[in-house]
Amino acid sequence: MKLCFATQNQNKIKEIQAILGKQFDLIGLADLGHTAELAEDGNTFEANSLQKARFVWETYQVNCFADDSGLEVQTLNGEPGVNSAFYAGKEKNYAANNTLLLQNMATQTNRIAQFRTCITLLLNGEVFQFNGIVKGQLLHTIKGTNGFGYDPLFMPDGYTQTFAEMTAEEKNKISHRALALQQLVEFLNLR
Ligand code: IMP
Repeated sequence: MKLCFATQNQNKIKEIQAILGKQFDLIGLADLGHTAELAEDGNTFEANSLQKARFVWETYQVNCFADDSGLEVQTLNGEPGVNSAFYAGKEKNYAANNTLLLQNMATQTNRIAQFRTCITLLLNGEVFQFNGIVKGQLLHTIKGTNGFGYDPLFMPDGYTQTFAEMTAEEKNKISHRALALQQLVEFLNLR
């Protein structure tokens, strides 16, 4: 089955194609001739991933899935949430985002946070959504240099290293993205 992953990231496509196996012919936006990023202006990860998947389905009539992820901090009522990439401003600046988050958390003793990924699959026009969540704590200072985004501030429950201190392999085994993807793959393989 031909399946589109609504992304411009060819590395992600290769990685997921390997997991899905030969039964699926995974293509990306570029393979459809679409070179721009897709709009995502919803208020939730569900809405954003649905918006992207729906665009592909309606424009190209190809079965498709899209993802949206971010960090949700309990005491900040789920912020930065869908604003994770642009928390500190219009430019996607990971260091500035981390600095602002630390400022906003300065007086908070509740450090509970979670990363969440929502994947929306549009299969013959039918919508299926899968959520991957990893719970943890926000540190008071950044720790580690691997990964990206909020990784240096986030220590998953049950571990003594931040995501940024883990290798990519270690993080990818337990990450929100991996958990959502596992559900998608199980769902597709059962059909
Ligand atoms: P995206 O939807 O995967 O592009 O993620 C949106 C934003 O959420 C990123 O730009 C990061 O700021 C944050 N984010 C998502 N996943 C991660 C992660 O695994 N580590 C750190 N930050 C993340």
